[in-house]
Amino acid sequence: MTECVSILGSTGSIGTQALEVCSKLNIRVAAITANRSIDLLEEQIRRFKPRLAVAGTKEYADKLRAAVKDTDTIISYGMDGLMEAAVIKEADTVLTSVVGMIGLRPTLAAISARKNIALANKETLVAGGDLVMSSAAESGVRIYPVDSEHSAIFQCLQGCHDKKMLKRLILTASGGPFFGKTYEQLKNVTVEEALNHPNWSMGAKITVDSASMMNKGLEIIEARWLFDVSADNIDVVVHRESIVHSMIEYVDNSVIAQMGVPDMKIPIQYALTYPDRTACDVGVLDLTKACSLSFYEPDYETFRCLGACKAALKRGGTAPVLVNGANEEAVSMFLNGKISFTDIGEIVETVTQNIKVDTADTLDNILAADLAAREYAKQYIKQ
Ligand code: MG
Repeated sequence: MTECVSILGSTGSIGTQALEVCSKLNIRVAAITANRSIDLLEEQIRRFKPRLAVAGTKEYADKLRAAVKDTDTIISYGMDGLMEAAVIKEADTVLTSVVGMIGLRPTLAAISARKNIALANKETLVAGGDLVMSSAAESGVRIYPVDSEHSAIFQCLQGCHDKKMLKRLILTASGGPFFGKTYEQLKNVTVEEALNHPNWSMGAKITVDSASMMNKGLEIIEARWLFDVSADNIDVVVHRESIVHSMIEYVDNSVIAQMGVPDMKIPIQYALTYPDRTACDVGVLDLTKACSLSFYEPDYETFRCLGACKAALKRGGTAPVLVNGANEEAVSMFLNGKISFTDIGEIVETVTQNIKVDTADTLDNILAADLAAREYAKQYIKQ
C-alpha cells in the first residue's frame, strides 16, 4: 500500500479525485503539478502541504510562488519541475495523470528512481510501452493501472496464477455520445456535442477521444503492454451502461467481469491500496436498478480511430507513437475549430502511410516520431 505519493497532474479530473482518496486514506502527498490551474494548485498546496509544487510555465510559477510565500512548499515549473516531482525522495508511488505524451519522460525518470507507478496517462504507454515496461522490470517496480478498463482487467487477473490459462481480454467501451451514428452524420458534429459524454465526467481531450473511440484504440495498445497480451487477443465490446468495466476470458471459456458504478475513485484507490481493498466513498451497485446491461459490436466503419490503433499495434515500432501524436494534435485542432470531427479519424488513419515507421526502442526515436506525426496533422489542414 502506498504511503506517500507524488501526483503529476493534480488539478485534472483524476488528480483531484486522487487527492480526495489520499485525504481519506491518510496517504501523504510529496509533490503536485499542474499546467495552468494555479488557483486550484494553491488551494491544494494549503490543504496537502506538499514539499514541491510545479506549474506549467515560469510565469505561472512566479505567480504561484508569490501567492504561497507563507508556506514551506517549493515551487518549480515546466518539464524540469515535472522531472523533480517524478523522482522526489519521499514518494514511494508516482501517480501520472497528466494528459498526453508529456508524461513519458517523467514516468521513465520515476521508474529509474524506483517508484511504483499508478498510471492514468495512457499516452505514455501507447508511445513508450516497450521502453516503460522493460525499465519497470529492470528497476523492479510495479505499474498499477488507473484507467477503469485496465483496473478491471487487473482486478479480474488476481485469480490467475498462470498466464497460459488466459485466452483474451475484452475491453468494454461506452460508445460515447455518437453511438449508432453513421460516418456521414458525424461530419458536422460540434465541439459541444463531442464533449457531451453520457456516463463519465472527464477532461476535454479524453472526452473527444471517447467520442471518436480513439480512447478505446489507445486502451487496446495500453492493455497490450500492461498485460503482455497480443493484439489478436484483445477485443472490444460496446457496453452502453458502463457497469461492466472490462472482462477476461479463460481457456475454458469462463468469463470474469469487474462491475461497479462508473466512478474513477474505485480504480484510483485500488492502484494506491493494492493488494488491499478498503471502503470507498462511491455508490453501491444495485443491479436490479440498472435494469439491463447491453453489449454491441463496435462500428469500425464509422469510428476509424479504433481500427487504426489496432493496425498500428500490429505493425509495431513507432506506429502507435504516430497514431497517438497525430491524434493529440488533431484533437487540439478540433477543439480550436480548425478541423471537423471526422478529420480526426482521417488524420489518425493516414499518418502511418505518410510517415516512416521506425523502431521504438529509444526515447529519441519515440520523440522524433511524435513530432513528425504532429507536423503531419498540422500539414493536413493546409491541404
Ligand atoms: Mg478508460
